[in-house]
Amino acid sequence: MNKVITSAQVLNLLQEQLDVWELARTNYEALKQVKVKELKFNQFTIKVQFNPARILSSAAKVDSKSIQERKCFLCQQNLPAVQKGIPFGDKYIVLINPFPIFPKHLTIAACEHVDQRIINRFGDMLDLAYNLDEFTIFYNGPKCGASAPDHAHFQAGNKGFLPIEKEWKIMKDSEVLKYQSANLFILRSYLRGTLVIESESKESAVHLFEHIYSSLNIRPDEEEPMMNILTWFEAGKWVICIFPRTLHRPSCYSAQGNDNILISPASVDMGGVFITPLEKDFEKISARDIVNILQEVCMNELELERIVEHLKIIR
Ligand SMILES: [Zn+2]
Repeated sequence: MNKVITSAQVLNLLQEQLDVWELARTNYEALKQVKVKELKFNQFTIKVQFNPARILSSAAKVDSKSIQERKCFLCQQNLPAVQKGIPFGDKYIVLINPFPIFPKHLTIAACEHVDQRIINRFGDMLDLAYNLDEFTIFYNGPKCGASAPDHAHFQAGNKGFLPIEKEWKIMKDSEVLKYQSANLFILRSYLRGTLVIESESKESAVHLFEHIYSSLNIRPDEEEPMMNILTWFEAGKWVICIFPRTLHRPSCYSAQGNDNILISPASVDMGGVFITPLEKDFEKISARDIVNILQEVCMNELELERIVEHLKIIR
């Protein structure tokens, strides 16, 4: 497959944008000083990043009234004049994310203003991972951390940042299902229910994803099963981590007093980097809090096993 865009082009774009765009430059500079702490679990690590600039995203109001009342920040006519992008095919534009979590952080916005949905875009996500092979691509469902649920988009961050990129190989069970040339794994004792597809064929991965998607419930007030997805391309294969979700925001998000922790978990948190926009939360958050949050918002292993059993039948 020929590449239609390369990591090098995107890294050039980042440099050019940092030269001329003060907001982005300030936030990327601030990221270098950001406080990080590491919480150790049995065989894996969760990092916590104190990132004040992310308050806009973590505390974003994503109810339909608030969304209707604001100007969409991913529509091309609303981008700041200084923000430039690189087209990805004729459906997307690759932009620098001016509120970074990663040292290199992209937003890949659909050219059209259409709702955030994965089912017809999952193949595009794999194409992005193949083309931008120095990046991990991620998808946040409309009620799973996306701050623009009304405008389809992905994000990408440089590889080598999320602990899951290495940990999945240690935490995976033996293969639970083989589907065409794709393998499916469940990560064990990883706190967040995680399905991993490993595939050298895009087609097999897309089909298997579609089966997983249709095995998940859609809540009455939702348009798609709640989920976060991370994917990257390495050694000739896609690795795709799917985190089916049971809750948008944990109870500590709206708790009063000392129990309050402003965390709105999304793909990056699922990948092992928790983002706290408030310093008080960064200081106090403990391994126990992480366990509680993930138990509330993610599926457990038993629920994942039921999905896999279902997949075995429909396969
Ligand atoms: Zn828009």
